[in-house]
Amino acid sequence: MTATGGPSLSQKRNLVTAIPGPGSLERLDRKKAYVADGVGTTLPVFIVAAGGGVLVDVDGNSLIDLGSGIAVTTVGNAAEKVVERASAQLAAFTHTCFMVTPYDGYVDVAQKLAELTPGDHAKKSALFNSGAEAVENAVKIARVATGRDAVVVFDHAYHGRTNLTMAMTAKNMPYKNGFGPFAGEVYRAPMSYPLRDGLSGTDAAARAIDVIEKQVGAANLACVVIEPIQGEGGFVVPAPGFLPALAEWCRSNGVLFVSDEIQAGLCRTGTWFAVDDEGVVPDLITTAKGIAGGLPLAAVTGRAEVMDAVHGGGLGGTYGGNPVACAAALGAIEEMETHDLAGRARQIGAIMQTRLDALKDAHPVIAEVRGRGAMMAIELTRPGALEPDADRTARVAAYCHSQGVVVLTCGTWGNVFRFLPPLSIGDELLQEAFDVVAEAFTATA
Ligand SMILES: *Cc1c(COP(=O)(O)O)cnc(C)c1O
Repeated sequence: MTATGGPSLSQKRNLVTAIPGPGSLERLDRKKAYVADGVGTTLPVFIVAAGGGVLVDVDGNSLIDLGSGIAVTTVGNAAEKVVERASAQLAAFTHTCFMVTPYDGYVDVAQKLAELTPGDHAKKSALFNSGAEAVENAVKIARVATGRDAVVVFDHAYHGRTNLTMAMTAKNMPYKNGFGPFAGEVYRAPMSYPLRDGLSGTDAAARAIDVIEKQVGAANLACVVIEPIQGEGGFVVPAPGFLPALAEWCRSNGVLFVSDEIQAGLCRTGTWFAVDDEGVVPDLITTAKGIAGGLPLAAVTGRAEVMDAVHGGGLGGTYGGNPVACAAALGAIEEMETHDLAGRARQIGAIMQTRLDALKDAHPVIAEVRGRGAMMAIELTRPGALEPDADRTARVAAYCHSQGVVVLTCGTWGNVFRFLPPLSIGDELLQEAFDVVAEAFTATA
């Protein structure tokens, strides 16, 4: 079956079978036979086309996408400029290996990142294939640049699934269980989590800094790696002042401040980067997910002198900065710039905030609405308490899925809904998706 996706797809939710339908169920059997069980799927509808705010499956169902393939298709699926530039690049050449013979696309992406990331200092980038690879390389660079070994990460953090990034990720199941031993010299500090700790940003930062100073020692510490809004860990938004205080402590102690913006960056939160909200300027910043409209690309961008501390040949990889992925990234960034997608993220955020606040008023199981721009979440607990309600979360998610709305959950306790619509979704479709979410809370009460 061939199909054309992209922004011209009919922007309607339309269910013609049960979800998943017979065509998807048949393919699910084939998946079970040939794909490793460890590779799970949230909603097993097999997709043939996608664009705007919809996903179309093999049975002809149109579902509303509130997940963007985990914050990846920020500019929409098969977005015009991504398709145009990546197709042209595919026809020209597909690979040379930038470390063997270079090409413009890689340098163009690096230049764009230098211009768009926070701070007006000289910046340089190195490109990779996945977020985890970018995080690993940020740590490698920070270690060489500082001559120190230790890395500090936070409670609820998610940084990937490779050996070093598993060590940096907080949650055991499913990311770490049985996969150790993990890389050493990774230390965990308490995160600012306003719903659960009630601390101001400066108090939460003081608590974290005390742990770092007493348990690691600034003189041993290469970098602090933090998601400015946490992703998989529950869309935890630190209290205002937390990130600036931490960045200031890093600066005073020769520690590099690394903002992992793999989920929150590139217009998602209503600014180019999530740290822009509080004017924090990181030494290094990691990007991936939303950067290339769905093609695998990741980057470490940082202060030129920090990036250049690494010896020649010390950074790279066969596919890092693949020319097709770079072309797609330039297309995605062009979409973000020409359509002011950061502004669109703020509009989407305002709509979601209104809908979620109303939902919270009606359903005391919702303890908090949080997030920024098109990165919003609700945390579910037993009413009036902080005990996580993962069961209700799972039932609400199942209801939404059955009604053709793709929602994602997250959080250390699996009790958070995260809403990450593509920024190409229309208002009407977005409202309809939240009608279904509201219905799901009523139906599962
Ligand atoms: C997804 C994610 C990663 C890992 O990216 P992959 O491309 O899956 O390796 C790292 N950090 C954050 C904040 C993420 O959301």
